[in-house]
Amino acid sequence: MKGIFPVDKFNSVTTPFYYYDTELLRNTLSEIRHETSKYDGFCVHYAIKANANPKVLGIICQAGLGVDCVSGWEIQTALNAGFPAKKIVYAGVGKSDWEIQLGIDKDIFCFNVESAAELEVINNIAQKSNKVARVAFRINPDVGAHTHANITTGLAENKFGIAMADMEDVILKAEEMKNVTFVGLHFHIGSQILDMGDFRALCNRINDLQDQLERHHIRVEHINVGGGLGIDYNHPNRVPMADFESYFKTYARHLKLRNGQTLHFELGRAVVAPCGTLITKCLYVKEGTAKKFTIVDAGMTDLIRPALYQAYHKIENISSEEPIETYDVVGPICESSDVFGKAVDLNACHRGDYIAIRSAGAYGEIMASCYNCRPMPKGYLSDEF
Ligand SMILES: *Cc1c(COP(=O)(O)O)cnc(C)c1O
Repeated sequence: MKGIFPVDKFNSVTTPFYYYDTELLRNTLSEIRHETSKYDGFCVHYAIKANANPKVLGIICQAGLGVDCVSGWEIQTALNAGFPAKKIVYAGVGKSDWEIQLGIDKDIFCFNVESAAELEVINNIAQKSNKVARVAFRINPDVGAHTHANITTGLAENKFGIAMADMEDVILKAEEMKNVTFVGLHFHIGSQILDMGDFRALCNRINDLQDQLERHHIRVEHINVGGGLGIDYNHPNRVPMADFESYFKTYARHLKLRNGQTLHFELGRAVVAPCGTLITKCLYVKEGTAKKFTIVDAGMTDLIRPALYQAYHKIENISSEEPIETYDVVGPICESSDVFGKAVDLNACHRGDYIAIRSAGAYGEIMASCYNCRPMPKGYLSDEF
């Protein structure tokens, strides 16, 4: 055992694989429950796109969270995992007819509608099924988040949501339709947000929009502020949990909820990122002309975040206690971007050492691909060792 990992038991499974720390996941879920129970009407949905490993979903489902889906397949996966349909919210700019039909057939809690065109299609499909679909409108609040450009979603230039200027028209349109009911407003400004000021800016924007709607006597039952709470990728041991206390407190303080309103959250990364580690083996240590490489058996096919977003993951050699050396940690895939980290300080590496790529529980396993005809990585709970 080095640190939190039962290294001596890892030879029972093949690398690379995802290792999920069950205790940390459970503690995280308790912390979310503890922090939200301080306020009335706070309701948390897990953004299933972050990680849909069935074993992980089982634990999250047991904790009583709802679920936020962005595809019909995710709705099906959530139902299979045991999440009740009445706790499912469904967003996405491009919902296909079958996905809308599935949401209607299963009576999901709410569609987060991203355009007037989509509203019409939902109304038509619901009409054919003799149902009334519950809809919220995803409003693009034009609030920037201080995060990577590829993961901001709430700016006017992004493809997501309905422009604020069109909000009232689309609500009035929904109120004229027979097979949809308007239930709320939805927002989501981006991901890996650590600056509470970004969430405060969203609160202020929502307060203004609510004032505007109130002047026109439009009632909103549900406010959904999306997700985006970030985690500390630099210090997975010292700071193993997102700052849920500050996050929920920011909304409690700055968002002016009206009487009886429910406030929904859609957290993905903050729920699952810290508990997951990609475990890989050192295949070769290679002395380049200018630097040393540790070549591992995991690649960007197993964890694409560094290649896709230049994301940082802390990397540790969990087999060695030898003095520190500096390596580029790279995978076997035929792409120059197949790099997990450059100039990484690791205990000296040897063939066969286990290398841990930390904080990989979100947007890791779920984004794996079969490029180079590789198999998908498997995921194991810590309890299984
Ligand atoms: C991705 C996404 C989330 C979750 O984002 P995190 O940064 O993982 O918390 C929530 N809501 C919507 C609509 C999303 O697309």
